[in-house]
Amino acid sequence: MLCGWLLGSRSTMGLLAVTGGLFAFFLWADLHGALPAMRPHNRWAYAVYLSGIVGLTAAATLLSRKSYLRRVHEAQTMAQDLKARDAELRKLLRVVEQSPESTVITDLDGRIEFVNDAFLARTGYARHEVLGRLSSEVSANGLGPTQWQGMRETLERGESWAGEQSNLRKDGAVISESVVVAPIRQPDGRITHYVELKQDVSDRKRAAQEIHRLAHYDSLTSLPNRSMLIERLASLQARHQRSGDDVHVLLLLDLDRFTNFNDARGSEMGDRLLCAVALRLAELLGPHDLLVRVAGDEFGIVLHDLGIDATVAGRRALAFADQIQQAFVRPLALGDSGEEAQLGLSMGLTLYPQGVDDTPLAAMGRAGTALHRAKHAGGARSAFFEQGMGAVAAQRFQVERDLRHAIGAQELRLYVQPQVNVRGQVTGVEALVRWQHPRDGLLTPGAFIPLAEESDLIVSLGEWVLAQACAVVAQPDFSLRRLRMSVNLSARQFREDGFVPSLRTLLRTTGADPRLLTLEVTEGLVIDDFDDVVSKMRELVALGVEFALDDFGTGYSSLAYLKRLPIQELKIDRSFVSEAPSNKDDGALVEALLTVASQFGLRVVAEGVETQEQVDFLAQREPAMVYQGYLFGHPEPVDQWMARQTPDMPQGQGPH
Ligand code: C2E
Ligand code: CA
Ligand code: CA
Repeated sequence: MLCGWLLGSRSTMGLLAVTGGLFAFFLWADLHGALPAMRPHNRWAYAVYLSGIVGLTAAATLLSRKSYLRRVHEAQTMAQDLKARDAELRKLLRVVEQSPESTVITDLDGRIEFVNDAFLARTGYARHEVLGRLSSEVSANGLGPTQWQGMRETLERGESWAGEQSNLRKDGAVISESVVVAPIRQPDGRITHYVELKQDVSDRKRAAQEIHRLAHYDSLTSLPNRSMLIERLASLQARHQRSGDDVHVLLLLDLDRFTNFNDARGSEMGDRLLCAVALRLAELLGPHDLLVRVAGDEFGIVLHDLGIDATVAGRRALAFADQIQQAFVRPLALGDSGEEAQLGLSMGLTLYPQGVDDTPLAAMGRAGTALHRAKHAGGARSAFFEQGMGAVAAQRFQVERDLRHAIGAQELRLYVQPQVNVRGQVTGVEALVRWQHPRDGLLTPGAFIPLAEESDLIVSLGEWVLAQACAVVAQPDFSLRRLRMSVNLSARQFREDGFVPSLRTLLRTTGADPRLLTLEVTEGLVIDDFDDVVSKMRELVALGVEFALDDFGTGYSSLAYLKRLPIQELKIDRSFVSEAPSNKDDGALVEALLTVASQFGLRVVAEGVETQEQVDFLAQREPAMVYQGYLFGHPEPVDQWMARQTPDMPQGQGPH
């Protein structure tokens, strides 16, 4: 029993208890003679029985011990296993805790349940500040809403998400991290948590940027280098293939006699000179243009979006090259050495891209050839690779530059051409500008107005004409006879923001009567922004100024908008007037125009009247017609015309 108890085997204990009890009973019966019939034979039975019990007990004890040992062994193994697993877990935990990667474990709502030391060290938070908070609040700030949504969806599908984020530290500083977020599954497949592993890639990013900088920038001048130039040209070509838009110009620029300078003053001064050149060039560039140092003393410039017309682009590029030449007339300061230097530049230009097959290297080849040509011609000049276009552009550029100068240098002249009524009386004049060119003589507007209209030159030119015209209107010889002054107004000039106020000021300062002024506009003016133009026109009409629609019949001539325009006069274009008496179609057209004019109650001026036949044709159809043309007078200098305007002089007798 004791053994059974010791061994903890219940069956053994039970068996021993029962047999022990029986044995005690028989022993008692024997001693007290309770069962006398059995006595003589029982001695043997006792012995057998006892030995049976002893045998059984021994066998049971042996068996129990075996199972006991087995169970002890099992318990020991389990304890060892647990210990090993515990050690394993501790090891893993230590790995996670000490991992240089930030590790965050969240529940399914993204609430933080665990963070490791790396996370705390990197973000600057204390553990208690983040546990229980949303991971998105404390760590993942760098995802846009759509990215965030994409990540959530990936995770909900049970997949891992990986990407790069810019996250914020507690102090607000940004860290770039490469992030993996993975779901944690239980053995039954359920997802219960997410783990976020984040690696700081700020250094790697910085290194990548540094590598990019070294590969794309020149260390002396800090300008982008040749490879950046090639990249930019390649991307412009790609853009061109997509949308076929504006023309760009590549300009290669090289200092004249830089080698001599280097030899004479040393390479340190040479370096300083290159930096000074870079600085001065950079000052001239627009925000989208690219300046690079190609090599040595060679620089490259990409001028972007110079318009869709190659000639215009070429001229603009030449104007820019000229600006560079002007800028290098001033000497360059060589660092803070107190020394200065002045060197000329040569430039080679080419349009880019030229077709879909053009490449950056081909363009650089062309610009290089042009540069060589400029150097060969003596330096300090620019050359276009496309010689034909260079010549046209150069000539137009020359005109533009001369014209800019002309406005300030009093080279413009105001001419006037009379307008007369059916009785031959002068009713007014049209102001027509001329340019007294110092070399080319007197130029008519056709040679320079279209060019001026492509740039802001038309604005200053137009202002000059208006000022001269108002000064004439203010003269008593003009105003007392209630003559009208018609001035051509370019769309660009009219669209200028300050046009209305500046005309108002002009009228006040000159004392010209606004009611004697007619502004001639063309249909093109109102195409872009009808309402704005009309409201500006109304402002001026309110002052008494009148408007004429010039070159009527040549443009769109939509009657719909004619009705809505605040105009008082139509000028029938010369092309219809000249053929009207002889050509049926033109005659019919003029008749139609006259009908329109009378319907709208407009005064009609016929332009380019050269013959009596034309006058007769027109007079029969519109008695109130006004004529303007060589038959009544050529344009002549305003002073000359004014000088002949004595009240008793017969009108319409201008020089022919
Ligand atoms: P436009 O407004 O149609 O001016 C009339 C043009 O026809 C003038 O040419 C004039 O000299 C010419 N002309 C007049 N009568 C006759 C004729 O009987 N026969 C022929 N064959 N021609 C005649 P011009 O002066 O060369 O001016 C040309 C254009 O230049 C003008 O056309 C006008 O659009 C523009 N323009 C002239 N002055 C100015 C100005 O001050 N500002 C602006 N924005 N444009 C101007
Ligand atoms: Ca006109
Ligand atoms: Ca006209």
